Amino acid sequence: MNVAENLEVIQGQIANACKASGRSKDEVKIIAVTKYVSPERAKQAIDAGVIHLGENRDEGLLHKISQLQDKPVWHFIGTLQTRKVKSIIDHVTYIHSLDRLSLAKEINKRASSKVKCLIQVNASGEESKHGLNPDDVTGFVQDLKQCPNIEVSGLMTMAPFTEDEQVIRSCFRTLKNLQAEIQQLRLEYAPCHELSMGMSNDFKIAVEEGSTMVRIGTALVGNESEVQ
Ligand SMILES: *Cc1c(COP(=O)(O)O)cnc(C)c1O
Repeated sequence: MNVAENLEVIQGQIANACKASGRSKDEVKIIAVTKYVSPERAKQAIDAGVIHLGENRDEGLLHKISQLQDKPVWHFIGTLQTRKVKSIIDHVTYIHSLDRLSLAKEINKRASSKVKCLIQVNASGEESKHGLNPDDVTGFVQDLKQCPNIEVSGLMTMAPFTEDEQVIRSCFRTLKNLQAEIQQLRLEYAPCHELSMGMSNDFKIAVEEGSTMVRIGTALVGNESEVQ
């Protein structure tokens, strides 16, 4: 399937999930995750109307940027090493993987203007997953007061890879509840209006549970083995 056709299918599924949960489909941004595919394939997503693109490694991001004439809104969605902040900071609008104060301080130091950050939360408690323990998130948000170049735009999580829909759903609910807690703090630097949750396998559930950013790779642009 070409990217435009995939996009249409996904938009329809998002619209249905929104309808089922009483939301407007305009509340959900689609981030095309292009990490597996070529710049040409990423270009097809842009041509189909995708505005937001996501990469999880600095090399992949910088390569795509150097090859594309277009200027999509770039999202950095992968684990970010502190020493890599400098190379990506001027190229991305959102960083979805803020998970420690040392990283926040480096972003704060290197930023030339406010950076929209999402705090990555390990909502499932799986040991293999990155992100803050849900219990530590509000304290962390308060610590970020010392970083004036950081805006806490929202929260991000990855659900476990499982067939058990209830496990996935409860993980997304944890994130939504945390968002409410943070918004109750009424911190000017932490509007926290975004929930980055949902990937190819679970975005419909995520949208039903309040996602505002779905990060879709395989189902939208495919992965290398399918494309080449
Ligand atoms: C790769 C990746 C995605 C996209 O995964 P798909 O299953 O291909 O849709 C989403 N989020 C993160 C953080 C990723 O690393």
